[in-house]
Amino acid sequence: MKIIMLGAPGAGKGTQAKLIADQYQIPHISTGDIFRANIKNGTELGKKAKSYMDQGLLVPDELVVDLVVDRVAQDDCVNGYVLDGFPRTIPQATALDEALIKKGTGIDYALNVDVPDENIIRRMSGRRACVNCGATYHIVHIPTKVEGICDRCGSELILRDDDKPETVQKRLNVYHEQTQPLIDYYSKAGILVSVDGTKDMMEVFADIEKILGE
Ligand code: ADP
Ligand code: ADP
Ligand code: ZN
Repeated sequence: MKIIMLGAPGAGKGTQAKLIADQYQIPHISTGDIFRANIKNGTELGKKAKSYMDQGLLVPDELVVDLVVDRVAQDDCVNGYVLDGFPRTIPQATALDEALIKKGTGIDYALNVDVPDENIIRRMSGRRACVNCGATYHIVHIPTKVEGICDRCGSELILRDDDKPETVQKRLNVYHEQTQPLIDYYSKAGILVSVDGTKDMMEVFADIEKILGE
């Protein structure tokens, strides 16, 4: 099963993608996590990506497309994957489609997690992220067992640099301009499904399971 997560920054794509990956035993591929790991390790890619990310802008398509196309060609992706944070522009979507068509496959579901902008800013200020394993929590809605420590791996949690309210507003604008058109793109392709992302985490996941099946 090949799934794309769509939705505004902070809609809960990563949270749901992890639940899907566990349930359906497919890899969770987050381009944001890949960039953050590269920044942490001081790679050339990380250095290039950081300047865009800090400003709330998208990293240029040419820095992300090959990376994802190579990643989904790896052996662990034969039974599918859940892509989180990619594609984010129409050129990224067409590049992915072309790469998959060459292999005689395609995306099965573009899953849109729908959350209005008003809810987003509130969610982002409470987001805490694990730079080690990519898990995300919320200080009110999805707290960790021990404050500041990741439940999954025991590492320390951080408030992401780009989760400051000014940057979040910028990212929302970027989302509406560059990423939201993908909803129409996948709707025309006949694979768009939407869930109400304002519900509780596990209610959203139950709605997703109904769509994806057992
Ligand atoms: P969020 O989950 O809050 O939407 P992500 O972790 O997906 O954020 O992405 C963080 C940042 O990484 C983005 O604001 C952008 O700068 C960069 N990024 C991630 N994925 C992509 C992509 N597919 N294309 C361009 N930039 C990306
Ligand atoms: P995205 O990957 O779309 O940027 P995240 O999965 O990181 O979004 O979620 C953004 C923030 O909202 C995190 O702090 C997360 O713990 C929290 N969150 C995710 N799903 C829900 C939900 N259904 N209700 C309340 N908070 C949520
Ligand atoms: Zn962790």
